[in-house]
Amino acid sequence: MGIEGSPFVSHGCSSRTERAELSAETRSQLLDACQSAYPEEACGVLAGDLPGPAANQADGVVRVTAVYPIRNTASDTAAAFSFHPQDWINTLYRIQKNRQSLVGIYHSHPVQPAFPSEADHQGMQFGSAASYWIISLADRACPVIQPYRWENRAFHPLVLA
Ligand SMILES: [Zn+2]
Repeated sequence: MGIEGSPFVSHGCSSRTERAELSAETRSQLLDACQSAYPEEACGVLAGDLPGPAANQADGVVRVTAVYPIRNTASDTAAAFSFHPQDWINTLYRIQKNRQSLVGIYHSHPVQPAFPSEADHQGMQFGSAASYWIISLADRACPVIQPYRWENRAFHPLVLA
């Protein structure tokens, strides 16, 4: 995105992320954000408490403690997402101000399952985020949250604790 001071964390060879953790409160915030955008796709970022790379690299676990919804400006919001540019910049500042770090990008699939779509593969401009989360509302009463990491041009599912 060409934003200086971006809190993105890149993967080193020694820091493979295999697990993700979501507190009950954060899980409920994430689901609320996705449900309220329905039938459009919700999108936003997930932050962790630790500032800087430590949040992701201490033990290879992505720990989410905050949800920052971002307005979806895609031309077809029912089937795609694109971050509102000013929301995105404001969110990066808020995360830094709160001494957090960006640990993931999320979006919802209102109808499709929680698997990366062709558009998700093509839209990996956020490929340096530690994790990429898809929330499926295909069964609205029973949403599915699935985190992935992006490595070697492919999505790899993370175990969600
Ligand atoms: Zn998607």
